[in-house]
Amino acid sequence: MSVLRIGVLAVQGDFAEHIELLRRIGVEPVEVRLPEHLGAIDALIIPGGESTTITRLLDIYDLRAPIKRLGRAGMPIWGTCAGAIVLAKGAGDLDRPSLGLMDIDVRRNAFGRQVDSFEADLDVGTLGDVPFHAIFIRAPVIHHAGDGVEVLAMLADGTIVAAREGHLLATSFHPELTDDPRFHQLLAAIAERSHRDRDRASK
Ligand code: GLN
Repeated sequence: MSVLRIGVLAVQGDFAEHIELLRRIGVEPVEVRLPEHLGAIDALIIPGGESTTITRLLDIYDLRAPIKRLGRAGMPIWGTCAGAIVLAKGAGDLDRPSLGLMDIDVRRNAFGRQVDSFEADLDVGTLGDVPFHAIFIRAPVIHHAGDGVEVLAMLADGTIVAAREGHLLATSFHPELTDDPRFHQLLAAIAERSHRDRDRASK
């Protein structure tokens, strides 16, 4: 199979760190700034940053409709932190609509001013036995996950911070700011599977 190409929405936020990590795991990263950049990718990452800014730029760069279309058609999409807010159906107090693709409700800046940022070791069963060191920065929480959504990780108090709905992934934290590639590898595995299914369907 040809090399997997994963797009990273590169209009705002920490897209460079995602691109770096994708390179390290042998995936070809594609910076997505314009609709035509969406043409040849197998999956998309929406990075952390500021969800109000990202949703505004989605409209300015005409990316909203094509990303929605691809997400609905089954293209794997992973949102980290602000990206998870952008993916969510219920995006709290955003001033313009989110993409509304994933059946989760999030609360923005849920940890408040005092605990703006923190780190925690999470058990993420799908990634194996070694805990995942998660970095939270003005993070949202997932306060409701729909029936078809699998919870991947919770904080000790039961707060949901990572979830998957088929081809869609959301994490409240920032795997791209660590050296641990396991979430990026999970997205690559989901993308590879849907790539293969598409190949098979077109034969
Ligand atoms: N607080 C930001 C928002 O609401 C998210 C922060 C982040 O992505 N690190 O969009």
